[in-house]
Amino acid sequence: MDKKFLLAAKWILPAWDREPIKDGALLIRDGKIESLGPREELVAQHPGLPVEDLGEALIFPGLINAHTHASMTIFRGLADDLPLMTWLQEYIFPVESHLKGEWVYWGARLAIAEMIRAGVTCFCDMYLFEPWVIRAVEETGLRAALGEGLFDFPSPGYGPLEKGLALTEDLLQSYEKHPRINIIVCPHAVYTCSPETLKKVREIAERHEAIIHIHLSETEDEVQQCLERYGRRPVAHLRELGLLNKSLHIAHAVELTEEEIELLASTGVSVAHCPESNLKLGSGVARIPEMIAAGVKVSLGTDGPASNNDLDLLSEMRTAALIQKGLRRDPTVLPAKEVFRMATEAGARALGFPHCGRLEPGYQADLAALDLETTSLTPVHDPLSLLVYSARAGEVSDLMVEGRWLMREGRILTFDEKETRTQVTLIAEEIQALLRERPTP
Ligand SMILES: [Zn+2]
Repeated sequence: MDKKFLLAAKWILPAWDREPIKDGALLIRDGKIESLGPREELVAQHPGLPVEDLGEALIFPGLINAHTHASMTIFRGLADDLPLMTWLQEYIFPVESHLKGEWVYWGARLAIAEMIRAGVTCFCDMYLFEPWVIRAVEETGLRAALGEGLFDFPSPGYGPLEKGLALTEDLLQSYEKHPRINIIVCPHAVYTCSPETLKKVREIAERHEAIIHIHLSETEDEVQQCLERYGRRPVAHLRELGLLNKSLHIAHAVELTEEEIELLASTGVSVAHCPESNLKLGSGVARIPEMIAAGVKVSLGTDGPASNNDLDLLSEMRTAALIQKGLRRDPTVLPAKEVFRMATEAGARALGFPHCGRLEPGYQADLAALDLETTSLTPVHDPLSLLVYSARAGEVSDLMVEGRWLMREGRILTFDEKETRTQVTLIAEEIQALLRERPTP
């Protein structure tokens, strides 16, 4: 059915490189943006069309979380301030070995609620039991690029690797035409996937023209291990295996040389920068200004909520900008505009949704609104500055994907948020019981 309406608000910020529109409106038709401009003009051009007025609000393109493990909300705050290997081997892995589909499902639903409250309309997810994340995405109405995490050792999700590869191909076929779900191929990392595995992954991705998503060059240790095992750094390793191309989306990229930055730029690889996770795990700070100057496509992610510990992409934008300024003692580095591009258009392109991340004719009506009747968001001198440097999760009042409201006036409409919290709290009790029973290291 032809669903056509005007959406109005005090401010509209159409894209990272566009001027904000005061007293603006969007004409939305069948989930897409048909036109935008000053409210008075649009109302005059389309008399009689219903107007939904958000009032004192700032409408912006929905944010894109370009790297996470959504269901790890169930591990939020389980163990902090530990060395990466202690954290993984003594806490995360022992519990993950008992992981089940229901846990992943409720964890993903909680993550989706949290992301909606932070203005996120689309996310990229790699985890175990991914079909349960897919189910959560289908039910809740968000947009996502999703893939089962693949590695050489047996997975609690699919068992032996061959089954994981088969599952990935099945999902690629089943969801080929889904408007909101893009299946991606997710080898975990170069230290958990052999060259043979990575070659198989490449063949699957080529057959289905799918995106490959992998953790790469996250820590110094990873680079050292790769050098010892293969005589090459991670980027060269992937080049050797034929993976460096525009279908590759890598998370982290903290440890890069000048030559590697050039190589990522010339081959069209995209990077998901995850500053808060890199800081919390003591991995370091990625050289984002150099990457952008070289032409690398850089997007922004939170990483899993167990190493962040939230999914607030609004605060992630602020962190991304502030750490570069502080490190370089230069406030002009990585301006708000560039960070907003990372969190919107750049993420959309990296995840294979070229018509998201901007509010322009022909683009999807994937958007969020910030409630401007908020003390810490007053006054509005510059909407872009407000979004990047002042806004926080919880100050987003409304959110829409493909023209459908998922949240209105602070209330999530497509699923029961309270029930989700209750279920995750019960799961956390089971996890605590498992930890009490685990052998002491
Ligand atoms: Zn990750």
